[in-house]
Amino acid sequence: MSTIFTKIIKREIPANIIYEDDLVIAFLDISQATLGHTLVVTKREYENIFELDDKISAHLYKVVVKLSKAINKAFNPSGLNILNNNGQVAGQTVFHYHIHIIPRYNESDVNFTLTNNYGLATQEELEKRCKAIQSAL
Ligand code: AMP
Repeated sequence: MSTIFTKIIKREIPANIIYEDDLVIAFLDISQATLGHTLVVTKREYENIFELDDKISAHLYKVVVKLSKAINKAFNPSGLNILNNNGQVAGQTVFHYHIHIIPRYNESDVNFTLTNNYGLATQEELEKRCKAIQSAL
């Protein structure tokens, strides 16, 4: 079954489309978490970041940067977040790859809190974490 974003791509359901090319489409997020909140979506139904190849990821990010600059120019926000949720536990609700562009107008318009665990892991443990990632590259 098609995802809701594929239905938008195929014009089966409406959306406020901003940009489209062969590989990606961008439209306003229906929730408008902040004014101008935009989604950049791959046309192919990749489920999450782990399925992306070099070509689509390079192109996608180029479009994210281009649209971020346009949103910045159009609405003059005080800041902007780029967000991508992968997996239900990370907040993903639509399992078709997309990046949120969220212009920010004040500190309280979105709630992101990253726990600061600085100092809790030993240097040995941190080196182990680096090596685990390096050996998976
Ligand atoms: P995520 O939770 O990261 O998977 O984000 C999914 C996003 O898709 C949410 O912010 C929704 O508001 C948005 N969304 C869901 N349905 C639509 C739709 N029909 N048009 C535009 N945005 C949508």
